[in-house]
Amino acid sequence: MQQSHRLQLNKEEMKKYGYQIIDTIVEHFENEHEKKPVTHATRKEMDALLDQEVPKNPSDFQDVLGFVVDNVLPNSNIFTHPKSYSFVPGPSNYVSVMADTLATGFNIFSGGWAASPAAAELEIVTMNWLLKLFKFPAKKGGGIFTSGGSMANLTALVTARRQRCGDDFSKAIIYMSDQAHSSNIKAIRVLGFKKEQVRIIPTDLEFKMSINKLKNAISRDRLQGFQPFCIIASAGTTNTGTVDPLHEIAMICKEEKLWYHIDGAYGGAAILSDKGSKLLKGIEKADSLTIDPHKWLYQPYEMGCLLVRNHKWLSAAFSEKPEYLRDIEGNTSEINFYDHGIQLTRRFRALKFYMSLKTFGLDAFKKAVSYNIDLADQVEAHLRKSPKWEVVSAATLAVINFRYNPIQTNLSEKELDTLNQEISKGVLQSREALLVTTVLQNQIVLRMCLINPRTTLDDVKETLTLCEKIGDGLLEKK
Ligand SMILES: *Cc1c(COP(=O)(O)O)cnc(C)c1O
Repeated sequence: MQQSHRLQLNKEEMKKYGYQIIDTIVEHFENEHEKKPVTHATRKEMDALLDQEVPKNPSDFQDVLGFVVDNVLPNSNIFTHPKSYSFVPGPSNYVSVMADTLATGFNIFSGGWAASPAAAELEIVTMNWLLKLFKFPAKKGGGIFTSGGSMANLTALVTARRQRCGDDFSKAIIYMSDQAHSSNIKAIRVLGFKKEQVRIIPTDLEFKMSINKLKNAISRDRLQGFQPFCIIASAGTTNTGTVDPLHEIAMICKEEKLWYHIDGAYGGAAILSDKGSKLLKGIEKADSLTIDPHKWLYQPYEMGCLLVRNHKWLSAAFSEKPEYLRDIEGNTSEINFYDHGIQLTRRFRALKFYMSLKTFGLDAFKKAVSYNIDLADQVEAHLRKSPKWEVVSAATLAVINFRYNPIQTNLSEKELDTLNQEISKGVLQSREALLVTTVLQNQIVLRMCLINPRTTLDDVKETLTLCEKIGDGLLEKK
């Protein structure tokens, strides 16, 4: 039995408990493709299933675990599923899952050097790997692992503002495109900038930030006495995978002395492939770069990352020297990551990145990313050959947008919108695939983000066949 006030299980119980959990996870990895990736549940249904008073007395641990396995785990979408195409999937990998388990099991504090020198060192080592991959300055550069891309973007903007604005940022202006990720706006709001301090630059027909409109906006702001301070470019927009003109924006930043932040949370990982690294040329010019290992670097949640050209910028923005941390400051080569970001207590995120890269090797990651980009190209070719489908935005960094538009049906734009919305609804109702819509240039389109290395062309074809069946059914009813 549990030794209750010590919150412990005995050794045999711990083993039994742990093995059962591992068995459950392994079963999930092995069989998930046979499960349905989509779940539906209302608040009412979840309340009926899960709502309860705080349990005053103990329960048998097997009962608790059994209840969770039966009722909690199945009521979540499976973002590792090969037919999870929407948003940005989280393909994850088993080695990193186990690494996270180890890090949590030892409850390693990854805030300061003195608390866990090896954890800090592994964060330095893996950060150096990333700096090199993205061709950031090796010695001067730095970075930090965060909970995700949103926190990395927030960390970047705090750093940028400290470097470029000091304490008075009332006239500072930030530029980004209408395709930039919402987390950037959220970060700007969190930081206390006003809405009027953000310029949303329109994109061209390919969804890239318009350079002409960006230049116009900057000159107008200067003429009006504002202080342009930062451009946020997207290296892989979430909607279409489009990369902004990174080189041209770098030149503008240089001429205008602006901070250059690149949000590569979605597409940054494509640097690992030949096709991707060509598209990402210029990414090495950023002052700060967000990438998001829990997306296309196949790590489980939560793991984002911010890279900066100069690690001192991070400490300038985030160091505080409270007396209670006096004894653990250490020397300057021994990084205290609590001085490089917002969190003091941090989990040991570097471990999963380290262990998965060591186990599979960088080449396996390169192959996986290349596979994803090629798969999206193959899906595009497949769609273009069909008389039923229209490609709305070509495959770019493993994202593709398309819509059901059989030739000779002559549907109006409005009818096409309704048809594609209904197809997505039908697919979700079937629970066979996670496929939702997005809006591009006022058209409702279906979007696939194909970053799961276990998704096959056959998986996609099956889903498209399902879409066609639903679409044809709807057209017949008309
Ligand atoms: C997903 C995403 C983010 C936010 O990252 P989280 O890890 O979800 O916080 C930011 N920018 C882009 C381009 C993204 O795709």
